[in-house]
Amino acid sequence: MNNIKVSILGSGSKGNCTLIETKDSKILIDCGFSAKETVKRLEILGINPTQINGIFLTHEHKDHTLGVENFASKFEIPIFAHSLTLREYEKMGLKKSLTLNDIATQDFYFRELTISPFEVSHDSVHCNGYSIYCQGEKFSLATDLGYIDENIIESIAGSETVVIESNHDSQLLRQNPTYPQVLKNRIAGKYGHLSNQDCANAITKLAELGTKNFILAHLSHQNNTTELAKSTTIKTLNTIGADTENDLTIAVATQDNVLTKNTF
Ligand SMILES: [Zn+2]
Ligand SMILES: [Zn+2]
Repeated sequence: MNNIKVSILGSGSKGNCTLIETKDSKILIDCGFSAKETVKRLEILGINPTQINGIFLTHEHKDHTLGVENFASKFEIPIFAHSLTLREYEKMGLKKSLTLNDIATQDFYFRELTISPFEVSHDSVHCNGYSIYCQGEKFSLATDLGYIDENIIESIAGSETVVIESNHDSQLLRQNPTYPQVLKNRIAGKYGHLSNQDCANAITKLAELGTKNFILAHLSHQNNTTELAKSTTIKTLNTIGADTENDLTIAVATQDNVLTKNTF
């Protein structure tokens, strides 16, 4: 099936933005680059910003929201987020011209898509991942989460493609000489970010449940490398005998380059 095309405009602590394209819709999940940079990265994909139908936010942290106000108001794009996330924005004095939509935590329709937000544990006022359904195909994104439990696995299971956080190598984080202990505890804690091994364990479960394509995202610049993230997942998948050469695709999203599912 190829009803949902996924592109990562960039991912990491300096900005996150994912483009989802279907036959009749184009949406962004998060808008963490400046409006100008978002336009530039969309251009690389041949997308005009006026083609974007909606922006769906995961949470209020700057690396997910930096450009949303300017981008959404300039191109008159509606913003969708949980009420707690929206309230946080209102406190910051949002532009009046923005169209804000409260998504609560139930499934809802947007154009020809079914959007299914699911709550995850993170140190923001609220944080959710998204599953998106289009013509029998499912896509899911889960970044910025302290842990993955069975409820989250259940929400994501059955997706053809999953974008999932592989934030840090636990050893590199522990040994990082520049991070204070309190920051290390925050990142590794249950409201922080997912380690490579936690990500690999989740991917292994999801692969057993049928997911074929994985994009590792939100890698830490200081406490991870592309190779470490990918090899941790591949090694873990190999323990269940998964064919990581032929059966599955595992790509790694980076901060600076645009990644498209078709270019794996
Ligand atoms: Zn965050
Ligand atoms: Zn983040």
